[in-house]
Formats: sequence, C-alpha cells, structure tokens
Amino acid sequence: MFGYTSSKAVILRRDIVHKLIGDKVIYTFKTEMEPVLTMKSGEEILVETNDCFFQQIESEEQVLMEVDFDHINPATGPIYVEEAEPGDLLKVEILKIDVADKGVAGVVPGEGILGDKAKKPIIRIIPIKDGYAHYKGLKLPIKPMVGVIGVAPGDEDGECPTETPWKHGGNMDTTDIAQGNTVYFPVRQKGALLALGDCHAIMGDGEICFTGLEVPASVKLRVSVIKDKKVTWPLIETKDSTMVVASGDDVDKAIYNATEETVELLSKALDMDFEETYLLTSIAVHMKISQVVDPRKTIRSEIPHAIITTEKLLEKL
Ligand code: CA
Ligand code: ZN
Repeated sequence: MFGYTSSKAVILRRDIVHKLIGDKVIYTFKTEMEPVLTMKSGEEILVETNDCFFQQIESEEQVLMEVDFDHINPATGPIYVEEAEPGDLLKVEILKIDVADKGVAGVVPGEGILGDKAKKPIIRIIPIKDGYAHYKGLKLPIKPMVGVIGVAPGDEDGECPTETPWKHGGNMDTTDIAQGNTVYFPVRQKGALLALGDCHAIMGDGEICFTGLEVPASVKLRVSVIKDKKVTWPLIETKDSTMVVASGDDVDKAIYNATEETVELLSKALDMDFEETYLLTSIAVHMKISQVVDPRKTIRSEIPHAIITTEKLLEKL
C-alpha cells in the first residue's frame, strides 16, 4: 500500500462527521446495494479510495496482464444519504483530494487510441512530491481528480460495472471532477447510494493510452440533497461554468447525448424555444472530450456562467 501524504491532518479536523476506509468497495453500481455507511444531507465525509488496480502493481517489472482483473476499479461505498429519494439531486462538493506519494501509469499493446502501434507493455511508477509528478526529468503539476464516482442507477439501466460510465456517473474519467468543484447526480434509488474510487493525480483529457496517473487517495466530500430536481446526466459546477457529463457507445453518441441534455436544460432555464437554444449552444457552449478509452466514451458540455449560473439553471428544473 502507498502512504497518504496528508490525510492524517485532515482526519483530525473536527468538522469531519464520517470516515469510510478503503476496504469497503463495490465493482458494480446496482439498483439495490447494501450500504456500508449512512449519513445525513449536509454532512461531510472522508473517503479512502483505492487506485484502479487495487494497489496490485508495486513494481515496473510487473506485467499488467498478470493483474487480477476481478479487482479492477473498486469504488468505496455505497453511502446511504438519508433524505435522498428518486427524483432528487445529490450534490457532492469535492472539498479536498489528497493523493499518495506515487502513482502508476501503463501502456498495453492493443489498448488506447494508438494501441495498434504499441509494441510492448510498460508500467511506470511515478513519484509525486510537492505537488508535482516527476516523469523522465519532467515536473508535471498535479491536478487530482476522481475517475469513478456514481450513485445507484435507474431500474431501466440495471447493473453498471464500475468501469462503465453512464447516467448514474461511474467511470466518467473527467478532469473537472476535481477539488473545489461540485458534482450533481440524478438520484434514482432511495438513499442515492454513492460510491467512488479510481483517483488520478494527473490525467490528460481523453486518457489516450487508457490510464491516468493512478493513485490511492483520500477524498473529503460534503454531500447534500436538493429535493425534486430531475436531470438525466450528472452535472459539474466549476467556478466558471456548469458541465453536462454524458456518455455513449462512441464519441458521436456521447456528443449527441450531451447536446440533447444541454439544449433541454437551457431551453427550460432561459425560456427559449428549441431552435433558439440550439443556436445558443452552437455559439457559446463548449463540447470537451473527457475520455475515449472506457467501454463508453464521455463528453462534457461546458455552459459558461456568462449564459447562466448553476444556481439559476437548477432553479428552473
Ligand atoms: Ca478510470
Ligand atoms: Zn483510473
């Protein structure tokens, strides 16, 4: 196991109500799951997360194919939130992400966008120190993010393995699911049943070769319920924008899903008809690639606060 850099200091703070250790994990988001912890709306929780390999990789000589694939993408949880009921929004503020002092990245022939060109598998264990990942003499400023985070899916979606992103969240691998930002999930089952894992110390948009810098982490969250607000896909609130995070079997389908939801939300919030809103989306909303390497691909549509704030957008739902 890797050591945590500063989680001890965080744990001692008095405002932490709950703590969940990293051995309570799921590998599938299901409609019914046995919660491992219950909390109330508005409370904070510190969640220990495992890296996507459950820390099975300890040296660069290891071969990725030898990893036990029954233990890939563990998500810590599920957490039952007392007030959450279907038709509500679960608001998850990411207050802090502390990552381990080293992470793992790798290449596997056949995997990722240039998988056809990769001749040999490699694993690199990359040290993280003073806010930088040190790779081949380069100092890369880290931007920790949560790769897998989601809630129990709707009955129509059934079981969603943690490696797959969908309407409940899951493996969205989105760089903006980061410290200081807020993620909103559509609650589809009583208690919401939140779980998270697969943090990356740093990842390029797209996650091109199929890993980020995979790290165990300690994630501090504030979780609240907003009653009676229906969305189809998760949203992210940053200081500049609201993002719709949508997935699909390929990038085209993901962009379609992100655009459809964006136009619907904006049309309601701004009281504009379809064509006017579609035009607005074309001139002022940005489609950004989250990841193109998971079983479904993920796009986020960025609606600048100059159009509407997240608060105003949610008001009209
Ligand atoms: Ca991932
Ligand atoms: Zn990952």
